[in-house]
Amino acid sequence: MSERYRNYIGGEWLRPAADNYHDNRNPADRNDIIGAFPNSDATDAEQAIAAAKSALESWSSLSSHARGEYLRKAADILEKRAEGVARDLMREEGKSLPEAKGETMRGVTILRYYAMQTMLPDGDVIPSAGAKTFLYSRRIPLGVCTLITPWNFPIAIPLWKAAPALAFGNTVILKPSELAPLTAHNIAECFAEAGLPAGVFNVVFAEGKRVGETLATHPDVTALSFTGSVRTGKILAQQAVEHGKKYQLEMGGKNAAVILPDADMEQAINLTIQGAFKSAGEKCTATSRAIVHRAVYDTFAANLVERTAALKIGPGDDASAYLGPVISEAARDNILNAITEAQAEGATVLCGGSVPDAPALAKGNYILPTVFGNIRPDMKIAKEEVFGPVLCLLPAEDLDDAIRLLNDVEYGLSASLFTRDLNAAMQFAEKAQAGMIRINGETAGVEPQAPFGGMKASSSFSREQGLAARDFFTQVKTVSVDRAG
Ligand code: ADP
Repeated sequence: MSERYRNYIGGEWLRPAADNYHDNRNPADRNDIIGAFPNSDATDAEQAIAAAKSALESWSSLSSHARGEYLRKAADILEKRAEGVARDLMREEGKSLPEAKGETMRGVTILRYYAMQTMLPDGDVIPSAGAKTFLYSRRIPLGVCTLITPWNFPIAIPLWKAAPALAFGNTVILKPSELAPLTAHNIAECFAEAGLPAGVFNVVFAEGKRVGETLATHPDVTALSFTGSVRTGKILAQQAVEHGKKYQLEMGGKNAAVILPDADMEQAINLTIQGAFKSAGEKCTATSRAIVHRAVYDTFAANLVERTAALKIGPGDDASAYLGPVISEAARDNILNAITEAQAEGATVLCGGSVPDAPALAKGNYILPTVFGNIRPDMKIAKEEVFGPVLCLLPAEDLDDAIRLLNDVEYGLSASLFTRDLNAAMQFAEKAQAGMIRINGETAGVEPQAPFGGMKASSSFSREQGLAARDFFTQVKTVSVDRAG
């Protein structure tokens, strides 16, 4: 029998109340069961909330420097364990080992960055109308925060929420995705080894809907930070509003790279392929549309398709593989359905479009990197997120037309432009409806010290990471002080 893992609640590793578990499988080999993880329920969620509540007073009363010291320790421990943590991440999520290592080291950076932020000013001194009045505002913690996270960046996303939440004096309950729980277990181990006081950081493993409502609506929870699908985001937003919680949502994207005739074509092709197919396209910032100026459309398409067809597919520890499996059989089937539907609407598969036929890959959830031509902007495949290795090519008449096509979707997460024309770049940066813009860069990729988030249906308007995280994980208290008498 595979190892049975436990929740981390109040500084202890606890069995779920109902003793209910589910298997965590390797997407590159479905017969490889990584472990049995709790499928917790409301009782476990309530226990975690109670633990976080009882730890709040003493944690929020520590000096911010002291809290930063715990984050620094956790960063050092994670750095020491990085190789093993990255291998676990690769095994449960499917991305390549270098990507898994990169993400783990990003986690280390995130912890150190928010440890540093505990030394930044936490308020303003404001001139008062009263000549002798000392008027100031200060950022204070929110309280108990629920973090609900997806499987595609199982270390970076939980840490870019937890690190600022903890740094600014909140206690947290992390509910990681049931599809990549081992990495969250590793995070909890790092915090435990760093000596974080009991109840400050808790992890409850479960399928989302079993604990989601309790974690989002419980009277002792103040705030909810979520990354995942639009469908779940809408449910959580409704619950949060109804129960008066502060909330933030990061959801899907239908990100486009725009290619103008004066671009460095080599760079544009490489970075479009990278944005579309690295991590099997399972990034919310992945490139799912390439909008190409008609003057270079045919050469760009021919070149990109030739190179995409030659990409090697394989498990994360095969150093020669460019992309790995998608997360689950269900995800694979959804992506294959989207491909079939697109063909039925008249789109043409230029390469890929199916599962690979190599027998060595039969046990994994693989899909060949797929490029579509003959796309009309009103097709479902051109509008809806696929979350897999699928790229649509669309021609544009000029920059204005490209920006119109780019903006003609409900999402607005990331967008990139390939050009040498400064004016075009400035126009694009101004007019593209996306929270993250890159000129001569791929649509995917974020830096933890910069604000991250989307426009339109991609987010709830708040931003994560950088200095923006403080806006979400704190509230402002304004104080005026006068002399007695
Ligand atoms: P994805 O399709 O990327 O897995 P989901 O929105 O289904 O996106 O999952 C993101 C996170 O939300 C996961 O941790 C999942 O368990 C959780 N989740 C799913 N459904 C709910 C729900 N009804 N309430 C709360 N959390 C949920």
